[in-house]
Amino acid sequence: MYDGDIASVLITEQQIGEKVAELAKQVADDYPENGTDLVLVGVLKGAVMFMTDFARALPVPVQLEFMAVSSYGSATSSSGVVRILKDLDRDIAGRDVVIVEDIIDSGLTLSWLLKNLASRNPKSLEVVTLLRKPDAVKVDVPVKYVGFEIPNEFVVGYGLDFAERYRDLPYIGTLDPKVYTS
Ligand code: 5GP
Ligand code: MG
Ligand code: MG
Repeated sequence: MYDGDIASVLITEQQIGEKVAELAKQVADDYPENGTDLVLVGVLKGAVMFMTDFARALPVPVQLEFMAVSSYGSATSSSGVVRILKDLDRDIAGRDVVIVEDIIDSGLTLSWLLKNLASRNPKSLEVVTLLRKPDAVKVDVPVKYVGFEIPNEFVVGYGLDFAERYRDLPYIGTLDPKVYTS
């Protein structure tokens, strides 16, 4: 599939699976069952694969919510100016909420999202991200759960796209430069 487009496999399907289980254990330990379900907020579309695997790996009941946002900027970097394309279906006031992200690069999108969700008065608000790039340290966003720290390269797969392609790959890889230039 996608023959020749992937330059290298950065994280294998097995490594992803092991990390998802590890993150789920950490989160489950921090949110023991208390009669009120944890709310996972997945950020469309990139976090979909991680969200569904993560929710199934968590041994505590969760409710699934999704948000879609668009950040103005170029195709590969964001500006921090964000517009809501799809909002949550439910009120999160008084709830324990965990934002589920695919990747944090500049951190601008997440920084905006944290402020937006915090203003709805959840009981608690944390972030789990599968991937984090080095630039994320420049913006002060508190991220409690991080899967992998990756180098500053453009990656695809496991939900992450280039021009809406490659989301369906079960692993995370880097793109051959010919894909951008052809
Ligand atoms: P930030 O606001 O943190 O710069 O942007 C995060 C968003 O940019 C991610 O949710 C993702 O949509 C996109 N993004 C950042 N780095 C990558 C990358 O390496 N590959 C892909 N496919 N998307 C990325
Ligand atoms: Mg994202
Ligand atoms: Mg994208």
